[in-house]
Amino acid sequence: MTGEALVRVDGVHKHFPVPVSFLSREKPVVHALNGVSLEIARGEAFCVVGESGCGKTTLGRAIMGLIGPTRGSISYDDTRIDALPEDKMLAFRRRMQMVFQNPYASLNPRMTVRRTLEEPLRFHRPDMTDGEVRDHVESVMRSVGMDLAWGSRYPHEFSGGQRQRISIARALMVDPEFIVADEPVSALDVSVQAQVLNLLMTVRKERGLTYLFITHDLSVVEHFGTQVAVMYLGVVCEIAPTADLFAAPRHPYTRLLLSAIPKLDRKTFEAVRIPGELPSPLDPPPGCVFHTRCPHATDLCRRERPELRSLAGRSVACHHAEEIGAG
Ligand code: SF4
Repeated sequence: MTGEALVRVDGVHKHFPVPVSFLSREKPVVHALNGVSLEIARGEAFCVVGESGCGKTTLGRAIMGLIGPTRGSISYDDTRIDALPEDKMLAFRRRMQMVFQNPYASLNPRMTVRRTLEEPLRFHRPDMTDGEVRDHVESVMRSVGMDLAWGSRYPHEFSGGQRQRISIARALMVDPEFIVADEPVSALDVSVQAQVLNLLMTVRKERGLTYLFITHDLSVVEHFGTQVAVMYLGVVCEIAPTADLFAAPRHPYTRLLLSAIPKLDRKTFEAVRIPGELPSPLDPPPGCVFHTRCPHATDLCRRERPELRSLAGRSVACHHAEEIGAG
């Protein structure tokens, strides 16, 4: 990876206890993240891809400090943030913002657009005067292509694409440097997805932003990402520059996903058929988590978990990546 790391995730596990009767002896646990390590360099559009349930949303929420890891550490700009008290976390919350999947649910229906946009400024910048807040809101609205007349209207008066534009403006309001975007276009019509993606790409360039972009859509990754991490059952299988990953995937899971692409109109994980069943995150397989579906699995794979290691300009978690080869 090139550039200075802005975000470092080191050996992060996240387990969620499943509610059961208090009489039950079993205490089932969902293993949402199982030892995730990665670095996001400044300026990257770092995509995390995987099927639903692979842990990508949990990873984004853990990086944002919305949930604490069960084990491992998360650092932001060389400061460990996974166990910071709320008052110390506040300064980081301004630098890190989030855009959610559902622009219908993430905007308060009782607030005008102007109030929605003012709110984060009033919270994080109490030093600003009313005039400064108004000027800043209007300048951000213009920069994302919003008509100033939108300010007096309510969220229900807008289409999904317009609402996501408002959500992006709200995230930009406090001049963040890092944005976690969790499936920001998957709830939108295909016809407006490109507009929202283009807006995200433009603001990244103009403001020098770093993104963690969570998606299940491989076509979004291909056009948007600079680096990509492929996740499966709470584990990172492969991290590579996007062009390298698409040209020559090295992990068997990535290879199976990408081999299906030419046959697909929409390159989504839901459309890809991988043989076998996805194991339950309540009881992930020992050794390599992909061994129950991998055509190359050996006894070693069933026994020992492969660590992420460097190979051919990327990181791969597979015992047999060299023998399997590229392409
Ligand atoms: Fe397949 Fe083994 Fe590699 Fe896992 S470690 S992906 S089971 S070859």
